[in-house]
Amino acid sequence: MYSIRIEDSFSAAHKLKGYAGDCENLHGHNWQVVVEVSGGKIGADGLLIDFRELRKMLKEITGELDHKMLNDLPAFHDLNPTSENVARHIYRALVEKLSACERVKLSFVRVFESAGSSASYFE
Ligand SMILES: [Zn+2]
Repeated sequence: MYSIRIEDSFSAAHKLKGYAGDCENLHGHNWQVVVEVSGGKIGADGLLIDFRELRKMLKEITGELDHKMLNDLPAFHDLNPTSENVARHIYRALVEKLSACERVKLSFVRVFESAGSSASYFE
Protein backbone atom coordinates (compact mmCIF):
# COMPACT_ATOMS: atom_id res chain seq x y z
CA MET A 1 0.00 0.00 0.00
CA TYR A 2 1.01 3.59 -0.58
CA SER A 3 -0.11 6.64 1.32
CA ILE A 4 0.18 10.35 0.68
CA ARG A 5 -0.18 12.95 3.39
CA ILE A 6 -0.60 16.69 3.04
CA GLU A 7 -1.20 19.48 5.51
CA ASP A 8 -2.98 22.78 5.28
CA SER A 9 -4.18 25.44 7.69
CA PHE A 10 -6.88 28.06 7.99
CA SER A 11 -7.97 30.65 10.53
CA ALA A 12 -11.56 30.72 11.72
CA ALA A 13 -13.74 31.56 14.69
CA HIS A 14 -16.35 29.48 16.42
CA LYS A 15 -18.38 29.17 19.59
CA LEU A 16 -19.67 25.91 20.98
CA LYS A 17 -23.31 25.77 21.97
CA GLY A 18 -24.07 23.83 25.13
CA TYR A 19 -20.42 23.60 26.13
CA ALA A 20 -19.86 24.44 29.78
CA GLY A 21 -16.61 26.37 29.63
CA ASP A 22 -14.60 29.01 27.81
CA CYS A 23 -15.26 27.51 24.37
CA GLU A 24 -18.90 28.57 24.65
CA ASN A 25 -17.69 32.12 23.99
CA LEU A 26 -16.65 33.40 20.58
CA HIS A 27 -12.96 32.69 19.92
CA GLY A 28 -10.66 31.74 17.08
CA HIS A 29 -8.09 29.13 16.16
CA ASN A 30 -5.40 28.65 13.58
CA TRP A 31 -6.66 25.24 12.51
CA GLN A 32 -4.19 22.72 11.12
CA VAL A 33 -5.55 20.06 8.79
CA VAL A 34 -3.80 16.77 8.00
CA VAL A 35 -5.16 14.61 5.20
CA GLU A 36 -4.00 11.15 4.22
CA VAL A 37 -5.04 9.10 1.22
CA SER A 38 -3.97 5.57 0.40
CA GLY A 39 -4.10 3.01 -2.37
CA GLY A 40 -2.53 -0.24 -3.51
CA LYS A 41 -1.62 0.84 -7.03
CA ILE A 42 0.33 3.76 -8.40
CA GLY A 43 0.07 5.07 -11.93
CA ALA A 44 2.55 4.70 -14.79
CA ASP A 45 3.92 8.07 -13.67
CA GLY A 46 4.84 6.53 -10.31
CA LEU A 47 2.30 8.61 -8.42
CA LEU A 48 -0.61 7.58 -6.23
CA ILE A 49 -1.90 11.13 -6.63
CA ASP A 50 -0.08 14.35 -7.41
CA PHE A 51 0.56 16.31 -4.18
CA ARG A 52 -0.46 19.48 -6.00
CA GLU A 53 -3.74 18.00 -7.16
CA LEU A 54 -4.63 16.81 -3.66
CA ARG A 55 -3.55 20.12 -2.13
CA LYS A 56 -5.69 22.04 -4.63
CA MET A 57 -8.75 19.99 -3.64
CA LEU A 58 -8.09 20.55 0.07
CA LYS A 59 -7.49 24.27 -0.43
CA GLU A 60 -10.85 24.63 -2.19
CA ILE A 61 -12.47 23.26 0.98
CA THR A 62 -10.37 25.07 3.59
CA GLY A 63 -10.63 28.26 1.51
CA GLU A 64 -14.36 28.31 2.23
CA LEU A 65 -13.64 28.09 5.99
CA ASP A 66 -10.76 30.58 6.14
CA HIS A 67 -11.47 33.82 8.00
CA LYS A 68 -15.07 32.81 8.61
CA MET A 69 -17.31 32.44 11.61
CA LEU A 70 -17.88 28.69 11.33
CA ASN A 71 -21.24 28.79 13.14
CA ASP A 72 -22.61 30.99 10.32
CA LEU A 73 -21.80 28.53 7.52
CA PRO A 74 -24.60 26.29 6.16
CA ALA A 75 -22.57 23.16 7.05
CA PHE A 76 -22.76 24.08 10.73
CA HIS A 77 -26.25 25.50 11.03
CA ASP A 78 -27.42 22.40 12.87
CA LEU A 79 -24.04 21.16 14.07
CA ASN A 80 -21.59 22.54 16.60
CA PRO A 81 -18.40 23.43 14.71
CA THR A 82 -16.23 21.27 16.94
CA SER A 83 -12.95 19.82 15.68
CA GLU A 84 -14.81 16.52 15.19
CA ASN A 85 -17.48 18.09 13.00
CA VAL A 86 -14.97 20.23 11.09
CA ALA A 87 -12.95 17.06 10.36
CA ARG A 88 -16.10 15.28 9.12
CA HIS A 89 -17.10 18.26 6.97
CA ILE A 90 -13.68 18.32 5.29
CA TYR A 91 -13.69 14.51 4.90
CA ARG A 92 -17.10 14.44 3.19
CA ALA A 93 -16.23 17.33 0.87
CA LEU A 94 -12.89 15.75 -0.04
CA VAL A 95 -14.44 12.32 -0.73
CA GLU A 96 -16.64 14.02 -3.33
CA LYS A 97 -13.67 15.70 -4.98
CA LEU A 98 -11.71 12.42 -4.97
CA SER A 99 -14.54 10.38 -6.51
CA ALA A 100 -12.94 10.60 -9.96
CA CYS A 101 -9.62 9.22 -8.64
CA GLU A 102 -10.36 5.49 -8.65
CA ARG A 103 -7.15 4.23 -7.07
CA VAL A 104 -7.20 6.69 -4.16
CA LYS A 105 -9.09 6.18 -0.91
CA LEU A 106 -9.29 8.90 1.72
CA SER A 107 -7.84 7.40 4.92
CA PHE A 108 -8.60 10.18 7.40
CA VAL A 109 -8.85 13.88 8.01
CA ARG A 110 -7.28 15.20 11.23
CA VAL A 111 -8.00 18.69 12.49
CA PHE A 112 -5.88 20.42 15.13
CA GLU A 113 -7.46 23.24 17.12
CA SER A 114 -4.14 23.74 18.85
CA ALA A 115 -0.75 22.06 18.72
CA GLY A 116 -1.63 19.26 21.11
CA SER A 117 -5.37 18.82 20.45
CA SER A 118 -6.77 17.15 17.38
CA ALA A 119 -9.80 15.21 16.20
CA SER A 120 -9.90 12.76 13.31
CA TYR A 121 -12.68 11.50 11.09
CA PHE A 122 -12.63 8.49 8.77
CA GLU A 123 -15.12 5.99 7.33
ZN1 LIG B 1 -12.40 26.48 20.02
